[in-house]
Amino acid sequence: MPTLRIDNAEIITMNGEMGVESGWTLLAVDGEITYVGPVGDAPALEVDELVDGSDCLLLPGFVNAHTHAAMTLFRGNADDMELQPWLEEKIWPVEATLTEDDVYWGAMLGCVEMLRAGVTCFADMYHMPEVGTRASIDAGIRARPSGVLLGLLPNAGDMLAKAEVFCRDHDEAGDGLIKPMLAPHAPYTCPEEMLRQVIGVAGDLGVPIHIHMAETDDNVQWSLENYGARPAEAMKQVGLFDVPVLAAHCVHLDEADIAIMADEAIGVAHCPGSNLKLASGIAPVAAMLAAGVQVGLGTDGCGSNNNLDLLQEALLAALVAKVQTGDPTAVPAAAALRMATLGGAEAVFLADRIGSLEVGKRADCILVDLTAPHMYPRHNLVSDVVYSAQSADVRATIVDGCVLVRDGEFTQLDEAEVMEKACESAARLFG
Ligand SMILES: [Zn+2]
Repeated sequence: MPTLRIDNAEIITMNGEMGVESGWTLLAVDGEITYVGPVGDAPALEVDELVDGSDCLLLPGFVNAHTHAAMTLFRGNADDMELQPWLEEKIWPVEATLTEDDVYWGAMLGCVEMLRAGVTCFADMYHMPEVGTRASIDAGIRARPSGVLLGLLPNAGDMLAKAEVFCRDHDEAGDGLIKPMLAPHAPYTCPEEMLRQVIGVAGDLGVPIHIHMAETDDNVQWSLENYGARPAEAMKQVGLFDVPVLAAHCVHLDEADIAIMADEAIGVAHCPGSNLKLASGIAPVAAMLAAGVQVGLGTDGCGSNNNLDLLQEALLAALVAKVQTGDPTAVPAAAALRMATLGGAEAVFLADRIGSLEVGKRADCILVDLTAPHMYPRHNLVSDVVYSAQSADVRATIVDGCVLVRDGEFTQLDEAEVMEKACESAARLFG
């Protein structure tokens, strides 16, 4: 039974109060946390992997609750455009020519980027999910993958049948790292009949649904015209919330929408970077949190962000909420850090496994270097990590008890090869 021990770090467990513990140690056996507490009380175990956390902060790994990992290949190719022309002219035509190799190396580049930035779990929505999932298993990162379902296409029925097979074949794949979802792209791209079919399959399989919702004001207008109701109410009427739902963006919500999101226990992936870049708006995060909505953070894909840096999203979430509300106390550092970790785990329906460092959960955690000048004099490590740390400060990334990044270097992956292969794919796609 491989045993991991992390000593000498400052620890924020995210378990209950947002305290910082010193002189604690963390033990994991077979990837499960078996002890986190004072070093003197730790059981004496023979340790296979000892990680020295001196001058580091140990945190639960970040959860990227909404992305399209293989879209790293699109990074920087078409920026500063409006959403619909960007999708219709720049993204969808190129996606139609993607090969399996492209998706694999694009997803792998995303995994490498996320692991370096302390992301240990991500919810993905993309074409050829079996290929992206192979990449995430090879990278050793935890994932909730899904194939994107576009209900307006003539082969929508085939897509759903394939997605069902994908979910069945990949549940608990990668030694439990993989938990698939079903992903109707959005209400405006999936007619009601298709949505009802997806809901039926999700119920049968017991998997959550991942969908884009209320991203733009146009989405809301479309919903009013086609359903006679705003997106949250419309989706409730269709029965979408009869199964667990992870809704990305949720920018344009009114009070009644927020009440529905809270009542129905919807997971929300707040994606401030993408929403700002596409001028979609600013999601009412402070109001959602106050209402008890399960909010996590997402980067969205690299076409609209342009990176997979979840710590940057935590900073943005805290900052834009203050400007939006005119209240500098809105979304304090502790709330932002919670959204990046435990809130994300709740939003993707994995809080029973990850999101905090406590006995019985999987050992998904990171060490953040505290020795850079911007981390002194350390008055408040919660503030420091949200407002001052950079993802480049992540020194170690551990998923399921496996040390994937140690001292800033990958232990198993050939990072240079990943970047080279992804560049070859991008060169072919964009000629
Ligand atoms: Zn998206």
